[in-house]
Amino acid sequence: MRNKRLRTAFAVCGFLLALTAGAAAGRLSKRSQTAPESAAEVSAPEISAAETVPTSPAPAAETTAATTAQSFAPAVPEPDASDFVLLSDAVPDVILEMRYYTTYNFIGDRIDGYDAPCALLTKEAAAALRGVSDELGEKGYRLKIYDAYRPQTAVDHFVRWAEDTADIRMKACFYPELDKSVLFESGYISRRSAHSRGSTVDLTLFDISTGKDVDMGGTFDYFGERSHPDFRGVSQEQYANRRLLRDAMTSHGFHGISTEWWHFTLNDEPFPETFFSFPVDPAVLP
Ligand SMILES: [Zn+2]
Repeated sequence: MRNKRLRTAFAVCGFLLALTAGAAAGRLSKRSQTAPESAAEVSAPEISAAETVPTSPAPAAETTAATTAQSFAPAVPEPDASDFVLLSDAVPDVILEMRYYTTYNFIGDRIDGYDAPCALLTKEAAAALRGVSDELGEKGYRLKIYDAYRPQTAVDHFVRWAEDTADIRMKACFYPELDKSVLFESGYISRRSAHSRGSTVDLTLFDISTGKDVDMGGTFDYFGERSHPDFRGVSQEQYANRRLLRDAMTSHGFHGISTEWWHFTLNDEPFPETFFSFPVDPAVLP
């Protein structure tokens, strides 16, 4: 959505910049894709003055439609997937349950940008996750992945859904305690997600001996206090299971957040300010 706003602003006042300094268009294009995010994915950052398009003088009267159209030519390619890998190649033991490719998610439809039932991550995040998988594999567990890289187009889909308060098809499963109208203000839906930077993963543990998911005392994408990693309303065993996942992730260079027991971001993520938009599809990889 921010991209749209920036592009609109660019359309209104940006073309003089392109006319007078061709490189300016490139800088604007890049800036529209690279903006810092606030704490994890729990707040919707406002557009700050530093992120808005610089003010330019009013267009000169003699500017023609032709020169205006010329300024819209893209000057910088979209950031691509050249530093990403297929998670199932990098961590062969993972189990994939890519909820946003399916209809079993809080919206109830396949999410925009999920074009294949696979998971993509940056090379660095995938390598760190391999360490987690190996460590927990020796203890009898496999990692079950719910989400990894998430395109900005998917986040935009979440936002459109959140704004349509009449669509509550999946309320009973994912937000029975909440009125949908509070999803933005409560931080459950944001216009940016750490996942779009490619080094964030949502996961749980699968117990090889029982053939079942480990009991975490809550389910992925449940909008409520029960999802907080430190929620004390769960049993001791469930709490210990959450700690097992969290301790393994943190010991391999990830950090969690206070609101979702399943969500972790690589500390040294390689693209801390880039929000990618290419689809989740093996075809995007080099
Ligand atoms: Zn997440």
